[in-house]
Amino acid sequence: MKRIAFARINQETNALSPVSTTLHDFESGHYLAGEPLLRAAADGPEVKGFFKRAELAGFVRAVRGRAEPVPVLSAWASSGGPLTAECFEALEARLVDGLRAAGRLDALYLCLHGAMGARGIADPETRLIKAARRVVQGPVVVSHDLHGNLTRARVEAADAIVGYQTNPHRDHVRVGRKSGELLLRMLDGEFPKIAWRTLPMILGGGKTIDFLSPMRAVFRRMRAAEKGEVLSASTFMVHPWNDDPALGWSTYAVGDDAERVVEELADMCWERRHEQPPAFPSASEAIASARRARVRRKLGCVTMADASDVVTAGAPGDSTHLLRALIEQGSGMLSYAAVRDPDAIAKLWPRAPGDVVAMSIGGTLDPAHSSPLPVRGTLVSKHDRAGFGRTVVLAVEHVRIVITEGPAMVMRPSFYTEVGLDPWHADIVMVKNFFPFLMFFLPYNRKTIFVRTHGATDFDAAFTLPFDGPVHPRDAIDDWRPRDQLRRYGASPDGATVNCSTVA
Ligand SMILES: [Zn+2]
Repeated sequence: MKRIAFARINQETNALSPVSTTLHDFESGHYLAGEPLLRAAADGPEVKGFFKRAELAGFVRAVRGRAEPVPVLSAWASSGGPLTAECFEALEARLVDGLRAAGRLDALYLCLHGAMGARGIADPETRLIKAARRVVQGPVVVSHDLHGNLTRARVEAADAIVGYQTNPHRDHVRVGRKSGELLLRMLDGEFPKIAWRTLPMILGGGKTIDFLSPMRAVFRRMRAAEKGEVLSASTFMVHPWNDDPALGWSTYAVGDDAERVVEELADMCWERRHEQPPAFPSASEAIASARRARVRRKLGCVTMADASDVVTAGAPGDSTHLLRALIEQGSGMLSYAAVRDPDAIAKLWPRAPGDVVAMSIGGTLDPAHSSPLPVRGTLVSKHDRAGFGRTVVLAVEHVRIVITEGPAMVMRPSFYTEVGLDPWHADIVMVKNFFPFLMFFLPYNRKTIFVRTHGATDFDAAFTLPFDGPVHPRDAIDDWRPRDQLRRYGASPDGATVNCSTVA
């Protein structure tokens, strides 16, 4: 029986965050290898606390009985700043060593995010694919989050790439299954055609939700194409805070009609480029709007998303802008808020519930975006929680502040209920997430307000990153094709070789 190795190294990087991602973040997040990994992928939960089944479960189901799935490693860290070079090199070495130790291998499935960055290392995920290739002689199929970025080197390194077709993401299992099925075909000697296009565009498509206009038609076209024209179709809408110079939306397909399908999908995306993400109100406007929503606050709560400090998009989670506004302007409304501050936790941990404390919180991890906030309040409770680390609840006037030691992915009601804060009692609940919270907070949420303050996930903050040329919407560009030619071939349409970085 043929033997197919499988591995995952997954993290989404926000290049604007000064908080580096370390090996500890992977090892204390999700880290499995060998037999325990096979059991997790086969029987679940695949990623404890997050996914009962995801890509690796889909892959194992697709190949079982026809090939032997060989577990190597699965490492996942929450979104954050770039990996340290030591962290990246350690993971790379463990991947390579794991593959070597696995004996004869005929193929590899590599589950990568597609938007991972590492300090001082260009295009680190392509480097992982190439490193794996030096050990595995057979085909390598890679899967990506649809916020991944394709580079020419990446496309050349993998035999096929498969992306999610849902946003918010909920088709992980299907993506793993498709990857497994492609590998089985390749092991039978059938190497399907691949094609891709890259667009000089980092933002567009409105809210980029797969079932809402304007992107719905693009996602439908991909699914229709998979009913006969191609085996797999993907549209990558990128993580705009990734600092690869060749950052841009891309389309990619595997199968006979791949060229036609990627060209059509690229045109559809480009037509939607002027539909930008919505503009969000300021903290003051948001609080005034929540105050007016009296009935909705009574029937549930107002959910306020800090769009400038979205931890699930890699921001540090230590911003004090919205917290300060809630304390100063939200009187009479019981509000739940979150802030990450390991130093404050160290000071608070020896204290007891009921103690009155005066100190500064937040604004220390990313001092360029917000400053520490002096508060005086009562320590309500202390908790040691997997994922968030040591946690303290502080009552400051009408605000209950959940201070965490680790990254505070404030996306699910359990972030608050686990520390005794019931969203039914709150007027305003702060989250640090873009969209999935809408699903999780459905029972409580009566009004959603995205708030813009100042931070690592401001959309226009991405414009300061180094690009290999003009990029939409920062710059005016009429036609996506010239840059596509450059990025894919390093040549102008008439065939002359040009240096991508010198073309403006
Ligand atoms: Zn994503």
